[in-house]
Amino acid sequence: PFDVLIVGGGPAGAAAAVYAARKGIRTGVASERFGGQVLDTLGIENFISIKETEGPKFAIALEEHVRAYDVDIMNLQRAAALVPGQDYVEVKLESGASLKSRTVIISTGARWRNINVPGEHEYKNKGVAYCPHCDGPLFKGKRVAVVGGGNSGVEAAIDLAGIVGHVTLIEYDQQLRADEVLQRKLRSLKNVDVFTNAQTTEITGEQTVNGLIYKDRASGDLHTVALEGVFIQIGLVPNTDWLKGVVELSKHGEIVVDAKGQTSVPGVFAAGDATTVPFKQIIIAAGDGAKAALSAFDHLIRTPMP
Ligand code: FAD
Repeated sequence: PFDVLIVGGGPAGAAAAVYAARKGIRTGVASERFGGQVLDTLGIENFISIKETEGPKFAIALEEHVRAYDVDIMNLQRAAALVPGQDYVEVKLESGASLKSRTVIISTGARWRNINVPGEHEYKNKGVAYCPHCDGPLFKGKRVAVVGGGNSGVEAAIDLAGIVGHVTLIEYDQQLRADEVLQRKLRSLKNVDVFTNAQTTEITGEQTVNGLIYKDRASGDLHTVALEGVFIQIGLVPNTDWLKGVVELSKHGEIVVDAKGQTSVPGVFAAGDATTVPFKQIIIAAGDGAKAALSAFDHLIRTPMP
């Protein structure tokens, strides 16, 4: 059995692995895809101390750093269930195997919800973006749309309006669903247009995005907006289905953690995009991974050996 078993090999899991291994305890990482969301990222320019890099390069660096320590890396393994126990927590894998550990750190991350229209997949990283904190500056002075009028969409539109030339916000519903204070701020901005009751039907482009087509749901008419970027903001889904009923989750499915990364289950910690910690970013996930590993170590030294 392990002392610390980490489930998920993104920035949070990698940081947790390095911190745990440096304590000289038996550490394992089981993950479906080592690197996580970073593998789908083109440019990274906000991981402090690395002025710019590329996602796949960053993912390799994460794995190399972990491999520099005595860590049992189990790739292509998907966790299916968590079973808390007296001395050990068990993680059942989809392969049928099962792993036991005195502590577990869950860092299974999240995924952006897609709108599933023609052009979205094709122009991902070529004008289609999901993270305004990450990719906003790439569109400096240009025209963008934000799809989604909930809190994250309206926050994104406000944020982007300060960087880009013009923002078009497209909401499917008849009204925006964001908090009133955000809507008021949005309406005060001169370079933002808002279309409600509007269904995005296609993202067009040649090499990169050049437009968005939406349907006015009242009239059925199609309209084209000429632009260079589209930010999809219709929700971030945490990869926590396998924990339902075992670990306390928020109403959005995020693992509820305290300031030390402790979950509702003793000996089980969590870090990164899968948790209630706000702002889903690499540097935040990595910091929280380190924190969860230190908390797991703290738990181990206070718990009698089985
Ligand atoms: P993830 O990176 O999501 O990693 C989760 C890990 O868990 C993966 O290894 C996955 O395979 C594994 N996993 C999931 N479910 C299971 C399971 N059941 N069993 C086993 N393993 C499982 N952030 C920035 O700071 N800067 C940027 O420029 C930036 N650009 C981005 C661009 C894109 C296109 C995307 C999608 C995200 C971007 N982000 C950026 C956000 C950043 O990638 C995430 O905040 C960060 O990767 C979160 O790290 P994590 O370790 O919590 O989760």
